[in-house]
Amino acid sequence: MKRFYCVCGEEVFFYDHVCKSCGRDLAYDPQIGTMWSGELVQNRFIAHTGDKKQSLDFSVCEHRSADVGCNWLLSNTDSNCQCIACRTTRTIPDLSHEKNLNRWFRLERCKRQLFQTLIALRLINARRPEQIANLQFDFLEDKRSNPNIDLEHVLTGHSDGLITLNAAEADEGFLHTMKEQMQERYRTLLGHFRHEIGHYFWGKLFATDDQKAKFREVFGDEREDYNEALERYYQQGKQNHWRGRYITPYASSHPHEDWAETWAHYLHIVDTLQTAQSYGLSVYDPQEHNFDHWFSEWHRVTQVMNALNRSMGVSDPYPFKVSDIVQGKLRFIDETIAAYVASIKTPPE
Ligand SMILES: [Zn+2]
Ligand SMILES: [Zn+2]
Ligand SMILES: [Zn+2]
Repeated sequence: MKRFYCVCGEEVFFYDHVCKSCGRDLAYDPQIGTMWSGELVQNRFIAHTGDKKQSLDFSVCEHRSADVGCNWLLSNTDSNCQCIACRTTRTIPDLSHEKNLNRWFRLERCKRQLFQTLIALRLINARRPEQIANLQFDFLEDKRSNPNIDLEHVLTGHSDGLITLNAAEADEGFLHTMKEQMQERYRTLLGHFRHEIGHYFWGKLFATDDQKAKFREVFGDEREDYNEALERYYQQGKQNHWRGRYITPYASSHPHEDWAETWAHYLHIVDTLQTAQSYGLSVYDPQEHNFDHWFSEWHRVTQVMNALNRSMGVSDPYPFKVSDIVQGKLRFIDETIAAYVASIKTPPE
């Protein structure tokens, strides 16, 4: 994540609505990846550019005033009332249940952070929302978090552009219980978004037989029966054979899950390394992208991150050991994204 500043000079954050120092309204422009400070006039946002003669006028996402508190802008040519991220939500949990408003707020906030990374990677073009028109999210509840619901278990997953997430995963307590139950070293709401969007992009990145053949060389044959593989994985429990070949035990369950787990890891690196760079903790220059430099810089930054946390008596934020095989998979993702982005024809602005 980049660092953002109000025109008054105060540092502000990606989620902020108002500058705490000067009181100006703030809004994030996904098209150019910047935070504007300015003034909200009904559903318009007048950005102060620093040049007194010039101000810019945008539409604001209709969820800005709602409790979900979205601070994103829309282009003036966009006829939708919601920003490119909010409009992908198809179902939200019942807001009459007191906890759900906060859950929805957290879910949308993570989704915007995910979108910010995908836009930066040029996997999503904020000017062309129609390119992801088939992407939708259902945030559902089940009996475990709401006894009034018939559904026993919400299964987090992706199917044909629809991503389903259990809204309860937005609760720290639930997330922690699940993490213990599944014996995971890392489980976050943002991680779920990054994993599931990996399944979505798989269909875009491996559309041809040639591309699928390349995928199989690295991740194995994804035509292996998915349900059988998952059943086997859950019956046998965590096996030691995953070490060395996979980023997580779950990645060993099926090539599709290996892809989504490794993809999520790739997005963790992209966002976190950008944060490290913007705060001067890393000198890596993403403009001169080179996988080997990128990865060795990441290794160095994770050592710093873990050491800082240990000094505070907090557990390691980066509990992973990336083997050479997994590094090869990350390199493959890096190359596949570059090839995909180069293949998309961007219309002239
Ligand atoms: Zn300010
Ligand atoms: Zn929005
Ligand atoms: Zn998955």
